[in-house]
Amino acid sequence: MPHNAYNPAMYALGASPSVIRAIFEYSLRRRAEIGEENVFDFSIGNPSVPPPAAVTDALLALVRDEPPVALHGYTSGPGAFSTRVGISEDYRRRFGVPVRPEDVYVTCGAAASLTVTLSALCEPGDEVILLSPFFPEYRVFVERAGGVPVVVPCRPDDFQPDVPAIAAAVTPRTRALIVNTPNNPTGVAYTPAVMAGLADALARASERVGRPVYLISDEPYRELVYDRPVADSPMKLYPRTVVCYSYSKSLSLPGERIGYIALAPDMPQGGEVFAAICGAGRALGFVCAPSLMQKLITACPGMTADLSVYRANRDLLFDALTEDGFDCVRPDGAFYLFVRSPLPDAAAFSEEAKKEEILFVPSDSFGTPGYVRIAYCVAPDVIRRSLPAFARLAVRCGLKK
Ligand code: PLP
Repeated sequence: MPHNAYNPAMYALGASPSVIRAIFEYSLRRRAEIGEENVFDFSIGNPSVPPPAAVTDALLALVRDEPPVALHGYTSGPGAFSTRVGISEDYRRRFGVPVRPEDVYVTCGAAASLTVTLSALCEPGDEVILLSPFFPEYRVFVERAGGVPVVVPCRPDDFQPDVPAIAAAVTPRTRALIVNTPNNPTGVAYTPAVMAGLADALARASERVGRPVYLISDEPYRELVYDRPVADSPMKLYPRTVVCYSYSKSLSLPGERIGYIALAPDMPQGGEVFAAICGAGRALGFVCAPSLMQKLITACPGMTADLSVYRANRDLLFDALTEDGFDCVRPDGAFYLFVRSPLPDAAAFSEEAKKEEILFVPSDSFGTPGYVRIAYCVAPDVIRRSLPAFARLAVRCGLKK
């Protein structure tokens, strides 16, 4: 019998890179051909602002002053205890929730927070509810954890979660729901009323099916909100909340891989859930989060990069695009615009945009076809220079003369 030389499922993932990555690679080639300044690349969510100067200073001080063996050594699996204490104190200060250091697990960013959490919670065949449109890697992470993604569309008019539809999707196999607010790819921040309704509906649905459902709150954009305050902690609404946080966007450190998992202090069987998280981190071979980054975030609690440029970009781009006739919900946060494709096929729209050297991502892989995602985490000058190209694109697509 013929046999595989590798795991075909992993081959399939590796051999077909994400659509976002493929467009990003195209962008690199195109920049080399026609010059950096002539390509308007809105494909990838890489922060465009530097980390705070205080973070750079703290990094230099750590490298200069700390004994190198300790600085670069392994920490314990869930993270150095001093880092876990720092995170729990920061969380309590910001939200008034007494997260215990013993319930904090330091990770290599939100992606690791999610893979560890899903592996810790899911048994084979367990269902995990995703709200479309969603970050495409959710599907990969859930399936690798042995789970089955169950997709529930958000409300089409405002992209808020459709609470009754979520409640109806809960079955005796449901293990968790992933929420991401402010959202990638819509930029929408879920309202406090919707979050409260969601928590209430989850509690009732758990009761109905006789099995607890966890709320996994993926929060890499927590601080990136423009017209409303940073949302309150979902832990106050729902005791089976697992927060998956990352410093990638708030401190502009995406390549350094640092974040955390935190459990609500009143989570039933929280100790066992935390042990399962430690087990999943071990099974996935994370060993520990980068030691230098653990010390850095401990030295810089409560800081964010200067995120004001994203708001300015949002205003500039949203106003110009709606003026051109494009249709999209005004984003409250993150750094994405989710624009309805004026052509029946979003891939064809993206190809049309390429003719104007504008690069963005068709929405099919986000689970909601018919839109494109524009990542506006770019220098404001790129946005300003791209506006005539967007106006020509509107003409090409018949939105204006
Ligand atoms: N979750 C969402 C919604 C994201 O947009 C991203 C990255 O863009 C991640 C998770 C992964 O973030 P990290 O770089 O912290 O792993």
